[in-house]
Amino acid sequence: MQYLNHLEALCKQVGADFVEEEPLSAHTTFRVGGACRAFITVPDADSCYRLRQFLLEAQLPHRFIGRGSNLIVSDNGFDGVVLMLSSVPQISTAEDGSCTAWAGTSLKAFCNAALSASLTGLEFAYGIPGTVGGAVYMNAGAYGGEMAQIVTQAEVLDPNNVRCIIKAEDLALSYRHSCFMEQDAVILYVTVQLKPGDPLQIKQQMEELMRKRQEKQPLEYPSAGSTFKRPEGSYASLLIDECGLKGFTVGGAQVSEKHAGFVINRGNATCADILSLCEQVREIVYRQTGYTLALEPELL
Ligand SMILES: Cc1cc2nc3c(=O)[nH]c(=O)nc-3n(C[C@H](O)[C@H](O)[C@H](O)COP(=O)(O)OP(=O)(O)OC[C@H]3O[C@@H](n4cnc5c(N)ncnc54)[C@H](O)[C@@H]3O)c2cc1C
Repeated sequence: MQYLNHLEALCKQVGADFVEEEPLSAHTTFRVGGACRAFITVPDADSCYRLRQFLLEAQLPHRFIGRGSNLIVSDNGFDGVVLMLSSVPQISTAEDGSCTAWAGTSLKAFCNAALSASLTGLEFAYGIPGTVGGAVYMNAGAYGGEMAQIVTQAEVLDPNNVRCIIKAEDLALSYRHSCFMEQDAVILYVTVQLKPGDPLQIKQQMEELMRKRQEKQPLEYPSAGSTFKRPEGSYASLLIDECGLKGFTVGGAQVSEKHAGFVINRGNATCADILSLCEQVREIVYRQTGYTLALEPELL
């Protein structure tokens, strides 16, 4: 492919890592997914701009991902280019409690930086295994907190590859939703507003939430976390449990015995297994309870 040669040369110029035919199972927490044409690790905002400009001009299918912790990738892979922002953390904290992070930064590093600066408000995100960019895209949340409560702005490359700032009120953040689900943009930096807090209490809260996750969630198996969104008026895990579906298995995919809201990969699951299991769970839950479940992870 001619375009791949050009792309590889551009990656060399901008210092981005370039791999052909990379299996996406290596970049998703579900550990499923076939290969993409090329997998690029983007080191910074300028190289991100140049690479995306090339991809847009050449009209090549591409997708930016974070840590792949809310993604289900097809067994056939992705016939295009997948780009991941470098995970090297870049975080700045200001005296007024405002903190800005590179979107490829892990939430864990962001939470630890907030703790080091004695800032409270981000504790809920500790233990969510994604990036800052992925967390805004999904409006990630847990234990009563969500990104929408703290994000003040995101710096992005817009659909035309123009670098601009989107203020919180225009991000359309609601339950597991952001404006990025309707428009093609790359999130580069995210700013959150935190408050001064007691570092001991912040640390205790982070550890307490991590302990709850370890106790309740099947973290020993690959998954994408909660597989279904919370339906209005109930909880997906409660409904699935009520329908007797804990342990329900299709191929290598299984409804976790430990937490009915998690579909897990028992080791050899394919994407087809996971989607077939999810479809059957949806059908049974609808038939027995009248609730319609929607998938939470994004499909690629
Ligand atoms: C064990 C486990 C527990 C979890 N617990 C929670 C939880 O408590 N709460 C919760 O909300 N979620 C949870 N999740 C799901 C997941 O971690 C979050 O949704 C997380 O925010 C996804 O971030 P990511 O970086 O992995 O994004 P990915 O999964 O890589 O991507 C998700 C979407 O965001 C897009 N995207 C990512 N980065 C960018 C970017 N820079 N620019 C543009 N688009 C981008 C991708 O294209 C994709 O559409 C859990 C997952 C696991 C495996």
